[in-house]
Amino acid sequence: MNAASDNFGTMVFNDKAMSERLPKDVYKALKRTMEMGKSLDRTIADVVANAMKDWAIEKGATHFTHWFQPMTGITAEKHDSFISPKSDGSIIMEFSGKELIKGEPDASSFPSGGLRATFEARGYTAWDPTSYAFIKDNTLCIPTAFCSYGGYALDKKTPLLRSMEAINRQALRVLKLFGNHDVTKVNTTVGAEQEYFLVDKALFEKRKDLIFCGRTLFGAKPPKGQELEDHYFGTIKPRIKAFMAELDEELWKLGVFAKTEHNEVAPAQHELAPIFTTTNIATDHNQLIMEMMKKVASRHGLVCLLHEKPFAGVNGSGKHINWSISTDTGINLLEPGDSPSENAQFLLFLAAIIKAVDEYQDLMRLSAASAGNDHRLGANEAPPAIVSMFVGEELQAVLDAIENGCTCLHKDKKEMRIGVHVLPRFFRDTTDRNRTSPFAFTGNKFEFRMLGSSASISGPNIILNTIVAEELSVFADILENSKDFHNDVLELVRKTIIEHKRIIFNGNNYSDEWVAEAEKRGLLNLKTTADALPCFVEKKNVELFVKHKVFFDEEVKARYEILLENYSKVLNIEALTMLDIARKEIIPAVSSYIRNLSETAIAKKQLITDADCEVETALVSKLSTLSSVMFRKIDSLNDALLEAKNYTDPLKVARFYKDTVLTAMQEVRVVADEMEMLTDSSCWPFPPYGELLFKT
Ligand code: ADP
Ligand code: MG
Repeated sequence: MNAASDNFGTMVFNDKAMSERLPKDVYKALKRTMEMGKSLDRTIADVVANAMKDWAIEKGATHFTHWFQPMTGITAEKHDSFISPKSDGSIIMEFSGKELIKGEPDASSFPSGGLRATFEARGYTAWDPTSYAFIKDNTLCIPTAFCSYGGYALDKKTPLLRSMEAINRQALRVLKLFGNHDVTKVNTTVGAEQEYFLVDKALFEKRKDLIFCGRTLFGAKPPKGQELEDHYFGTIKPRIKAFMAELDEELWKLGVFAKTEHNEVAPAQHELAPIFTTTNIATDHNQLIMEMMKKVASRHGLVCLLHEKPFAGVNGSGKHINWSISTDTGINLLEPGDSPSENAQFLLFLAAIIKAVDEYQDLMRLSAASAGNDHRLGANEAPPAIVSMFVGEELQAVLDAIENGCTCLHKDKKEMRIGVHVLPRFFRDTTDRNRTSPFAFTGNKFEFRMLGSSASISGPNIILNTIVAEELSVFADILENSKDFHNDVLELVRKTIIEHKRIIFNGNNYSDEWVAEAEKRGLLNLKTTADALPCFVEKKNVELFVKHKVFFDEEVKARYEILLENYSKVLNIEALTMLDIARKEIIPAVSSYIRNLSETAIAKKQLITDADCEVETALVSKLSTLSSVMFRKIDSLNDALLEAKNYTDPLKVARFYKDTVLTAMQEVRVVADEMEMLTDSSCWPFPPYGELLFKT
């Protein structure tokens, strides 16, 4: 045993804690609830709550909270202490089953897209027993779903659980057809790699743009960026190393399988990858990872930036979700199997995914859309905004052979009969990896690479689960009536490849040729969030969600509005911050530098009548001109913000921000950055890029 294994999960009311502290029958009932989604009996809930409370108090907890994930994308908690007054004036520590199962936060200020206002003023939180309770900051946190009294989901967990149920239902139908009668549950599994930046806290505090927006709105290019590629996997500086070690320790205590930590491409950029787990837990854990990164950074005099694009000119941060489907019998359904039947089954699941990605490109795209991520996608550092998938050379050869009706594949002089013999296990060789694809097959799972670093992984997982559930249900409908199962499976796979192969692209997704080629293939290219979001409410998509009971009609519309409004609000905050910094910091700083220069020139002339003041004169002239230009650009940005108020339709507002406000912001920045290059650094009002990126 070492410290890591001693501490792992010590702050989690996990299976070990449950089995030790609960009576056998209660433990069994709870396990059934967790595994089969059965509802929990109240008397059992009381016993569980009491055991949880005793455990938590022993670990120093004084409070409990329902920990939930509202539509803000971050987690929310409202703490209540365990204390209860007794008639003699003393207190006891109490926690009832009722308090465990249901909470009623006064939640009127969370975004609901009108859902709560129309039906009920308040929402409630309900325990999600499939995710373990844990202790954080002396508080017992109970993972919960958050709904309105009308039963509408107001959070990111409820639809995620529904989507997991949808894919479970449909995958089971398909698995039964292949004779897998021992499988009773299918789960999706996820490993979410998280990228982030660390900057010095003292420097951070001098930048209003970082404080209010999480990204820099100004900043001239430093002499050095990421061009030497010396940061990627480079040696980790001692201060960062100490941060990572403490982060791992904190995460391990919370049962998070933090595994890999390394430096990323951009200076000051890093990555953490946990070991995969079931989707629901992986989603909770990713929230905890982001929260802990911020907390631990602060203890080391650092600030963790999770924004998708904190700095122009160097790579931004993303999040990759590695996604697969597995059975409760321990089989990864995206791993080619050992028998001809498993092999056909693998191909059928693969075909379902190919069809899903092609038919629902729009949903995949919008699941990664946000104001922050708009700075990355399509910017030669992240996949383009065009959704496609990578299968790799080996698997492509198999798909080609099936498409051409050959039942044989010649590989290394060995003949392989498709659907009859065993498929090769595909190499998981890093050299074969395509790092530019938005959705890449990596041997036994897919890696969805479009996500932004700050986003909850719930949205993209909801989409993946639901669209694959849909195609599996279509396949099951066909195959359940099949007379010649083996042939029909192969025929279905073949038909799918022919109809949907346009979505497969194994080349360089960053190239201009691909953009042109994708257009020829008729693939969507939804460049920004404002372009992508309207797809959410398209008829085919609403029908999909309703059919699989993932969203009600009203929920889709509410979410669509929340996302649109959020986009415009983010841009509005950025624009206001920009105006503030430009007017109150940059213009005055440049002005005072101009005065310094002028005074210098005058002093020189007093000393030597014909002194050469070329430098001062030139700089004063240049900076004065730039200041005037900047002043006008600031006015234009201000006007744009006023004009935005004329629109009421959320889509029109979002489009206006995208087309007009963002452009006006960019124009202010260009002038400011040019002035920064000409101004004495001791006069510049906030730390430059060079310090932010290289001083950690
Ligand atoms: P590497 O990139 O070093 O080869 P892997 O490909 O094994 O590492 O894993 C990358 C990420 O994918 C990790 O977070 C890992 O836990 C996750 N992962 C591996 N297998 C699966 C799976 N079956 N389902 C979901 N995620 C997985
Ligand atoms: Mg990565």
